[in-house]
Amino acid sequence: MRRSEVECRDDIDSFAPGLLALVESLKPSEEHKFRQKQLVDSVAKSVGKEWPGARLHLYGSCANSFGTTNSDVDVCLEMEIGTESTVEVLLKLSDVLRADNFENVEAITGARVPIVRMSDPRSGFSCDICINNLLAVANTKLLKDYAQLDQRLLQLAFLVKHWAKQRSVNETYRGTLSSYAYVLMCISFLQLREPKVLPCLQVMEPTYTLTTEGTECAYFDKVDQLQDFGAENKDSIAELLWGFFQYWAYRHDYRHDVISIRMGKTLSKQEKNWTTRVGNDRHLVCIEDPFETGHDLGRVVDRQTIRILREEFERAAAVLQYDDNPCVTLFEPYDYEN
Ligand code: ATP
Ligand code: MG
Repeated sequence: MRRSEVECRDDIDSFAPGLLALVESLKPSEEHKFRQKQLVDSVAKSVGKEWPGARLHLYGSCANSFGTTNSDVDVCLEMEIGTESTVEVLLKLSDVLRADNFENVEAITGARVPIVRMSDPRSGFSCDICINNLLAVANTKLLKDYAQLDQRLLQLAFLVKHWAKQRSVNETYRGTLSSYAYVLMCISFLQLREPKVLPCLQVMEPTYTLTTEGTECAYFDKVDQLQDFGAENKDSIAELLWGFFQYWAYRHDYRHDVISIRMGKTLSKQEKNWTTRVGNDRHLVCIEDPFETGHDLGRVVDRQTIRILREEFERAAAVLQYDDNPCVTLFEPYDYEN
């Protein structure tokens, strides 16, 4: 039998309670949320002095419900910047934050999305601030809406994000994948599962639309009308976690396919024109951004890190299949460079 056709072990469901207990332990506490709010309030105060018209949005995992105890705080400032460039505003913002006693303030201006990164000694959090990046605000809402459809998405994503952090494969600067990419992989997997656990909100009649930087972000956001969508699928979280790793270890066609939560199915690299390397975009693992459809979240992966990722997916699938104590072994800390 090919490894892509292997069935999961008979006792897989016996590991669900252990995995769910782990999920609970990863959820941010009320105290954690309170400290996050304090940080956001102090950022708002600093920003308000210099830019009274600025609107502050939270994005990323502090707003999309995929935040864990390890997550940072991501803030987007929506403001008129007149003739100044985003980079000039970020440099000015760095000075303002330093003057207000935020620590390790650093403007990262060369990134695809320029940000100011800093830490807050009062709350202990680190925080990324970007300007007018409303696409991130829109994709945050999309992820949050998906999370409300079936609790297994949140559980799966918490476990996958925790696994990725423990196994050191959640570091884009080293050529592995962002948390955002892993959440998209989880959504795609649940859209492809039979019976489906999640629908595809972007192919339905849009009830939410936001247009920014020439990109239209539109989808059906009345998720309370879709609460029973995944009910026919009875898979436990343990079976889904195994299925997720099995998919990425043996079933995904890395050579030809692109995952797309926008379409709720895989697309071909050919139709995306993602068949050859352009600059640093190698397109070895292809994950289409749901709104910026020309953006491949897997573009950071190179020949070495695709091998590391695939070995980690294979290890995870094997641990869930054969190990006596998978809830512990799966998450054993490891760094491929040490
Ligand atoms: P964590 O809990 O690890 O902080 P996160 O969901 O906040 O996870 P990040 O990787 O910190 O994920 O990204 C924050 C947000 O920035 C994402 O939710 C997404 O909106 C946006 N984002 C991150 N990386 C990209 C990317 N490569 N392309 C487009 N948007 C991105
Ligand atoms: Mg974050």
